[in-house]
Amino acid sequence: MTDKEKIELLREKINQADAIVVGTASGMSAAGGLRFYYQDDDDFKKIAGGLREKYGVDNLFNAYYDPRLTNGEHWALLLRQIKCLYEIETPEVYHELAEIIKGKNYYIVTTNQDAMLYRVFPADKITRLQGDVRYFQCKNRCHDKIYYNKEMVYDLNGKIEGDSLPEKYIPKCPYCGGEMIDWVRSPRFLQGKEYEREYARYMNFLRANMNKKVLFLELGVGMMTPMFIKEPFMNMVYQFPDAFYVTVNPKHAIIPKEIATKSLDIHDDIAFVLKEVLGKSTVHLKRDDKENIFDSERIY
Ligand SMILES: [Zn+2]
Repeated sequence: MTDKEKIELLREKINQADAIVVGTASGMSAAGGLRFYYQDDDDFKKIAGGLREKYGVDNLFNAYYDPRLTNGEHWALLLRQIKCLYEIETPEVYHELAEIIKGKNYYIVTTNQDAMLYRVFPADKITRLQGDVRYFQCKNRCHDKIYYNKEMVYDLNGKIEGDSLPEKYIPKCPYCGGEMIDWVRSPRFLQGKEYEREYARYMNFLRANMNKKVLFLELGVGMMTPMFIKEPFMNMVYQFPDAFYVTVNPKHAIIPKEIATKSLDIHDDIAFVLKEVLGKSTVHLKRDDKENIFDSERIY
């Protein structure tokens, strides 16, 4: 099948679907230009400040998990990252996804913690499987509550000295006095009532639509944590009678043979694919050269 035929088939599947389940991961935001997690770009330089030179780190992912950072430095990175995400312009790919599925019966599940989906979709259509950096939780999980952090993040950014948040400003839990952390998947992730509520909503959508013509559209899911979106999508496509699976990924568009007749793999940049589905021009977009293509393998 040619690339053009693949886009045509995707458009047809979207039009014919009674329900669309979209799964987005880091490749989606990366296609929209959010790449500081793994690239030494201007956003990363702004977030890392002097820590970039001090530790010789060249992306946020490496900086974040570098054990040499002090707790205060770790906080500075975290606070600058969250502020950056509050301020960043909504990536075009999100507007385009919204345009594509507008008016359809859809649901979106994501492993992204950057909250970009909330810029263009109603909250009750989204399930976050790995949390959301706009919220803090108690590190000890002593109580089941997440805290919207925008005000705190802006305030604390102003308190960073050099590249470190002084100990006295590190946010503390109002109940146990332990440190707060960002509400994202880690061994301390609070999988509490908000998580359960969103997960149940996703399951309800699946149950209500499982016997219909349902399209699973996977955008930018890598191989680091396939158990959250990719594998369940494949399993459901296998089991549901009239399901179809489309995976868009420049590197990891893999189709198991068991669902080969119910699947479509598009090995291309999501930014191009979404525009092509909408019949929009892609001349101003720059395609990553094949050697340099975003490597989503190490990103969830
Ligand atoms: Zn606590």
